[in-house]
Amino acid sequence: MTVTTRFAPSPTGRLHVGNIRTALHNYLLAAKHGGRFLLRIDDTDAERSREEHVAAIVADLNWLGLAPHALYRQSERFALYEREFERLKADGRVYPCYETAHELELRRKVLLGRGLPPVYERKDPNAPAPEGVAPHWRFKLDHGSPIAFTDLIRGPSQFDPGLISDPVVRRADGSWLYLLPSVIDDVDMGITHVLRGEDHVTNSAVQLQMFAALGAEPPAFAHEALLVATEGKLSKRLDSSGIEELRSAGIEPMALNSLLARLGTSQPVEPRATLAELADGFDLATFGRAPAHFDPNEVEQLNRKLLHHLPFAAVADRVPPAIGAAEWDLLAGNVDHLAELADWLPVLDGDIPPPDLPAEDRSFLAAAATAAETIDWSGEPWADLSQTLKQSTDRKGKALFRPLRLALTGRESGPEMAPLIKRIGRDRALARLRAAAD
Ligand code: GLU
Repeated sequence: MTVTTRFAPSPTGRLHVGNIRTALHNYLLAAKHGGRFLLRIDDTDAERSREEHVAAIVADLNWLGLAPHALYRQSERFALYEREFERLKADGRVYPCYETAHELELRRKVLLGRGLPPVYERKDPNAPAPEGVAPHWRFKLDHGSPIAFTDLIRGPSQFDPGLISDPVVRRADGSWLYLLPSVIDDVDMGITHVLRGEDHVTNSAVQLQMFAALGAEPPAFAHEALLVATEGKLSKRLDSSGIEELRSAGIEPMALNSLLARLGTSQPVEPRATLAELADGFDLATFGRAPAHFDPNEVEQLNRKLLHHLPFAAVADRVPPAIGAAEWDLLAGNVDHLAELADWLPVLDGDIPPPDLPAEDRSFLAAAATAAETIDWSGEPWADLSQTLKQSTDRKGKALFRPLRLALTGRESGPEMAPLIKRIGRDRALARLRAAAD
């Protein structure tokens, strides 16, 4: 049995971090078992689905490295749904209904008013159909025994089908609702694990009966706690945490993946450079039941940590041409986002404005410039320079290092000076010391 998972977004908007987390978990579950991860575009709703969203979903998944093994679109699979629907109809598992939305709503209110569960009441199947009215169709739940399954996250789960309305699977205009096509596809695509948000848990109960009605083995189900923004309820802010925003904020895909892979689990959130590493440790048994909290600041922190230990090869195609492996080793610890590398280019190879320093620092830097002329630049110029200055001036510690760093880099902090001054080189270093001393 090849572990096969799917991510099944409806292309009615851009993906946000909540959707991405589900996609990632499905990817990791499949990857951990050497299985297949499928992308299924749930575009049965022609009015709300948009081509631009399909393209954006595919692009976002690619950017994250979550390329699927195959892509399906439900809008291309109507013939299959039709066949299976006919089969269920012949078996009496789907049946026509004629109530209007208004009638159903009234009935609901009456039931609720009497303190009863607002469950759809089946009509006499032998009652004559009203003339000239196209029916919508419901799936007939089997009330015989409780629906029971072991959720791979929530544990043993049980539902009383008598308390669930027979779900509408097809509208009067022939269009499909989500529940049945999803099951038909899961069977046809050999899905072994359905991993999705816990808002789908009642759907799963209903869908389990659909698998049985189609004569198929159901997949294993896992429902994860929802993702919420740190402020509390799923907020606008979380909704607006789309890939586009994170990407343009300079977030690395693996920073986001590293966070979303472990958020809401008992495992620590750590920066990981590859999806394979995340897949290795992926374990549904570590998922908690409480909502997971998403904090954009955490992505920022993780981005910084990740950059600090990524090898040059992981970023080579996204850095300015002047940044090679040596430059990366020098600068990686000093950037929160890759884009900041560009700010360091003038420090390495260009011109920087001389700092504005008090007179005593300037005369100290004049001494530094003279010393820098005499030291051996092929050895350890930084150690030599600071040693010489320690002896020739009464400066040490910050009083010694701060003006040197400011003169040589224009900044209060940055990479280690020993490798940096070698990279800056003798001529440029001398010129900067002299300019700062003037
Ligand atoms: N299109 C459904 C949704 O976005 C898919 C749910 C599922 O994974 O089955 O909620």
